[in-house]
Amino acid sequence: MSDAPPRSPFPVPEGRAPGARPLPCADTPLAGAMPGIMTCVHCGFCLQACPTYLALGDENDSPRGRILLVRALAEGTLPLDDPDVRTHLDQCLGCRGCETACPSGVPYGHILEAARATLNTVKPPARIARLGLAVFARPRLLAAALAAARVVRLTGLAALLARLPGRTGFAFAMLAASTPRASRSYTPRDATPRGTVAILQGCVMRGLFAHVNRATERTLATNGYRVVPAPAQRCCGALHAHAGDLAGARALARRNIAAFERSGADFIAVNASGCGLMIKEYGHLLADDPAWADRAAAIAARARDVSELLVVAGPTLGAPLHEHAAYDAPCHLVHGQHLAREPLAVLGAVPSLVVTPLPNADQCCGSAGLYSLVEPRLAQDVLGPKLAEIASTGAPLVATGNPGCMMHIGAGLMRAKIPARTVHPVELLDAAYAAQAHGAAALDR
Ligand code: SF4
Ligand code: SF4
Repeated sequence: MSDAPPRSPFPVPEGRAPGARPLPCADTPLAGAMPGIMTCVHCGFCLQACPTYLALGDENDSPRGRILLVRALAEGTLPLDDPDVRTHLDQCLGCRGCETACPSGVPYGHILEAARATLNTVKPPARIARLGLAVFARPRLLAAALAAARVVRLTGLAALLARLPGRTGFAFAMLAASTPRASRSYTPRDATPRGTVAILQGCVMRGLFAHVNRATERTLATNGYRVVPAPAQRCCGALHAHAGDLAGARALARRNIAAFERSGADFIAVNASGCGLMIKEYGHLLADDPAWADRAAAIAARARDVSELLVVAGPTLGAPLHEHAAYDAPCHLVHGQHLAREPLAVLGAVPSLVVTPLPNADQCCGSAGLYSLVEPRLAQDVLGPKLAEIASTGAPLVATGNPGCMMHIGAGLMRAKIPARTVHPVELLDAAYAAQAHGAAALDR
């Protein structure tokens, strides 16, 4: 049997000749994406890396098919209000697994964002997505919503309501899956100084995973980084960019750039992979803004996933933890930031911890920002194989460095009654450091 990828079932358009008539999309975000679109040679190597193609078996729901659809929009052979095109683009997770598989370097993520931004000019995104984006852009409203969520979580109501069927039950299960387990603080030891670091507090991270932010501070300090404050941060803008609200993403990016500039930090540490990728792409996001382009690029160059910073320092070994953790790679860490080894090196600094990378750790879990709320059926279809893989490892812990993945996988585990919970890799390292400081096991199941 041939290993060649499947041929495209659609006629493959020829390249655009020099001097061809102007594109109908000339005044839309798609125009800027056209050079990237034209780098696709329709080889199909990306198909088997695409979770939606694997789940649906439809070429229109593959990277190659979507690129052809977007090109047809740009060239005017399909109208911008074509409902089927919208559906196929809405069903894309934006996981960027196709970028890793692509031998031609097609910048699929940027193409998708430009396509969604262009489609939004004729029809806004789904109401639930618009509501989510509006809340994330308003710090007070977001803080109030997350405070209410914490109350629901603290009272045990989230775990109770997680038994409800459908999207509502799953949303409460996601909230229940964010419940912090007891951890112990400790005073980080002196270490070789490695510079100053400002930590992106994040929206969901600050509201529901504050314990991971504290663990991030302690593990960085233990490895020689001096944590400095960066007040007045906002949402990173990733949700807005992925939904095609590029103006909203740019407004949030400008606020964050100013906040991190004021901090004077050498590095910006991020413990949420989607947010980390967004900050690393601030230069691209604001490339056409003369007042901000250079500032955005400078901040992007200082952004690091927390695992990158820890690996530069070793990381320092902790005390043994006799635990077993499966590892799943967040898409925007492995495909977006190309960091496959670093999180495993962080876990490798925990002696006696058994780490089992999932067989398809680089495949999306189906979380993808607001995706599990706006495309609940497909999100579950994508999650199913991941849960089966986790169950087959028998590991009671699943380490993954992104809040969306932690909540989505955690909710799936809870509803499938698989006896495992999710944890951020820095939580395990932090527990090992705490155990070292206190002379006892510090990770509470
Ligand atoms: S996106 Fe890349 S891998 Fe996929 S068909 Fe185009 S060139 Fe091939
Ligand atoms: S981003 Fe993910 S879901 Fe979308 S086309 Fe690429 S591989 Fe498929």
